[in-house]
Formats: sequence, structure tokens, C-alpha cells
Amino acid sequence: MKKLAAGNWKMNGTGADLAEVRALIAARPEPDCDMLLCPPATLIARMAEVARGSALRVGGQDCHAAASGAHTGDISAAMLRDAGASHVILGHSERRADHGETDDQVRAKAQAAIGAGLVAVVCIGETEAERDAGRTLAVIGGQLDGSLPAGASAATLIVAYEPVWAIGTGRTPTLAEIAEVHAFLRSRLRGLIGAEAEGLRLLYGGSVKPSNAAGIFALPDVDGALVGGASLKAADFAAIVAAL
Ligand code: PGA
Repeated sequence: MKKLAAGNWKMNGTGADLAEVRALIAARPEPDCDMLLCPPATLIARMAEVARGSALRVGGQDCHAAASGAHTGDISAAMLRDAGASHVILGHSERRADHGETDDQVRAKAQAAIGAGLVAVVCIGETEAERDAGRTLAVIGGQLDGSLPAGASAATLIVAYEPVWAIGTGRTPTLAEIAEVHAFLRSRLRGLIGAEAEGLRLLYGGSVKPSNAAGIFALPDVDGALVGGASLKAADFAAIVAAL
């Protein structure tokens, strides 16, 4: 399967930062992996315009589970698609923490996203306290079961394993710990969606940077990365893309 380098700009970026996107496309016109950037909603349409005709895909960072209606400040999956998005990140730990998103809500959003023709990038991950208590696999197994949308397939769903304590901290699990979780996720997915699990991309996220990307990407069952801070600068993200 083709690997995926996905960038999550979080609440960063205005029009001026589209220069980084142009630089990324110029640096990696024909990457060996798929390339995706998820900017704030305000930039999706403009970034999609910059990315038109290139290998870069553009995604959202969240969507509402409803198709339309009285939800001030929210954005539907169809609106993301209309703006030029092909993917949407759902259930990121910052949304679970800042907005109290539950597995049920993430599943409903993923279903709405898939229904609107988007690929859902569902994030799961344990906190440091959960890892220290030896509960990592139990926690992420529960999140996976609870967030998995009906009819999920390799073409419609991507799962990102992001240990909460590794996000934006410069700390990562050991390679053996990442490999253990990804093997666990693949096997759990086999139980949930059968043969589709083999082609479903499992991303690792949390302090991925040019210096550690190659080691992480060489692990079995790691099919790419979800990158936060290091996706903001074209040079860093291009180096990560080259490591895939
Ligand atoms: P980070 O963020 O790469 O800055 O650690 C990853 C993420 O939150 O997706």
C-alpha cells in the first residue's frame, strides 16, 4: 500500500503561510507516498487552489456529524468537500480534551464524513497515566472499537495512533512500543472489518520530525505519519515525506 504523510496545522496558518505549501509542492513534485495537509478551515479552499494539479491533498481537522442545520460555528463534511478537502481528521486528542468529544461522537462524525465522500482519519491514543498504568492497549482498543464507523474500509478510513503524551512534547514511544501498538491495531481491525484491515493505513503521530521519521516508517504496520509541528515548514515536511 502507498504510505501517507499527513500534516495537521492545528490552529496555525493564514494566507501568508501558503508560501510553505508552494515550497512543499516544488520540493516534492512526485513523492513516493501520498501527501496531505490539514489546515484550519479558513485556509482549506485557498490551499486546495494552490494544490490543484499537484500530488498534495487537503483535509479538514473536524466536522459536524449532522449534514446541515442550526449548529453555529460548525462545519459539515459536505462543506469541507465543497471547499476542496478529500480527508478530515476526527477525534484528535486536542478535540477530545478541548471539546469533550467521545468515541460515539467521533464515530458519528466519521460516518458523516464517509457519507460525504471524505476519507476519515480517526485518531486514538493513550495518556501518559494510562501508559504508566499498563493500560495502553486496553485504552486504544476501546477507542478503536468505539470510534469505528459502520462500513469502514481501507478506502474510507485511516487510523492514527497518537499517544497524547507524545504530541508536541518532543517525546516518543520507543520503536518497539510503536510496533507493538500498530501490530495490536492491525489485529484488532482484522476482528472488526476482516480482510479490509490489511490495506487500511495505520499512521503514527506524536513528535514525528525529520530526524526520527525513517526509523518509525521502517516499522511493520506503520503506513505513514500524522505530523503536527513539523508539517508547518515545507523543509521539515518535505524531509519527512522523503523518509517514507
Ligand atoms: P506533533 O503533533 O507532531 O506536533 O507532536 C502531532 C499531532 O497532534 O497530530
